[in-house]
Amino acid sequence: MKNNNISSSLISHPSSLIIVTGGAGYIGSHTLIELDKAGFDFLVLDNLSNSSQEAIKRVEKIINKKIPFVKGDIRDKELLREIFKENRIDSVIHFAGLKAVGESVQKPLVYYENNVCGTNNLLEVMKEFGVKKFVFSSSATVYGEPDKMPVTEDMQTGVGITNSYGRSKYMIEEILKDLFISDNSWKIAILRYFNPVGAHESGMMGEDPEGIPNNLMPFITQVAVGKLPKLRVFGGDYPTHDGTGVRDYIHVMDLANAHVKALEYINNNDLNEPLIVNLGTGQGYSVLDMVKAFERASGVKIPYEIVDRRPGDIAKIYANPNKAKELLGWEAKRGIDEMCESAWNWQSRNPRGYKGE
Ligand code: NAD
Ligand code: UDP
Repeated sequence: MKNNNISSSLISHPSSLIIVTGGAGYIGSHTLIELDKAGFDFLVLDNLSNSSQEAIKRVEKIINKKIPFVKGDIRDKELLREIFKENRIDSVIHFAGLKAVGESVQKPLVYYENNVCGTNNLLEVMKEFGVKKFVFSSSATVYGEPDKMPVTEDMQTGVGITNSYGRSKYMIEEILKDLFISDNSWKIAILRYFNPVGAHESGMMGEDPEGIPNNLMPFITQVAVGKLPKLRVFGGDYPTHDGTGVRDYIHVMDLANAHVKALEYINNNDLNEPLIVNLGTGQGYSVLDMVKAFERASGVKIPYEIVDRRPGDIAKIYANPNKAKELLGWEAKRGIDEMCESAWNWQSRNPRGYKGE
């Protein structure tokens, strides 16, 4: 079956390619820049359910290259087969998924179908075509409410997760571990992201959530440009240094670079198990620390009020990032000021995100 979404220019690409699912999204689009810099060729598969093709166009401008793009769904097996048939696929970096925590509580089946079934589907087609290198976007949420800080990769996962989104990530991790047990020629990297924020230095790309942002940083930047009246700080009575929740914020370009390192690692090493690494800075900041840092970076005052805790939130989580440093030679380079400056650079130049033009 010929799929009309695949433009003929994508077909039979001569060199071997990485499929980047969800490559039009926030983290995926930034990762494309780092992949290109490292000399990798790739094809993006995204259904644009939470993104815009404008993000791909901006990446094309930055890297000065056309990006093969397929608008399609990871749940569409026929489409996947067609992509694998028509191209020499070497590996898959899998960002595609739904990620709104609150929505996942309302719509668990939608989340499990998209994230878990979608990933299973993708893995089945990879297996059919003998493509066995897979980099997966997991999340610190798999740790639930950890009793020790900082969090290391060997700590318990799957217990105390408060929403279907987090459980979908945990389930996919378990699927990947089982897959490796069944066939140890798979090379799998499970990357547990902490809190990605910030934007590419150009100010041409950044985070562009649909509707009212759920996450802290895009909420702050939208208050700063006057789209939202004030920040609601969820909880002022946590056992943290100022009573507000503490997280490990990581610059999206550092995170993007870690994908290149992870891919190189699985390309160059034999693995006895899936590689699992935390991607964070190791430094925890509170909500009010972030507000102050953003005010410093932007010169804009952020009005806020402290309201009730958000259900399902934990007080504090930050990573021990040593394993990524030891194995991948990767560590975060950019600090909180650069995170805030770049987020502001993007939002102030693009107050309406990618829809602005
Ligand atoms: P995003 O929503 O910006 O990007 C995800 C992309 O996947 C979007 O472009 C969306 O259109 C696409 N997509 C969704 N379902 C799809 C499907 N069935 N088929 C094809 N494309 C589909 O999110 P992001 O922040 O870039 O996150 C990327 C990945 O990292 C996600 O898996 C997310 O769960 C994970 N993650 C994100 C964070 C975070 O705070 N941003 C933290 C931890 C993990
Ligand atoms: N947060 C907040 N107001 C908001 C959004 C988030 O106070 O409008 C807080 C939230 O309670 C948490 C931190 O900011 O302590 C980071 O929240 P986010 O949703 O960005 O990430 P996650 O909860 O997934 O770590």
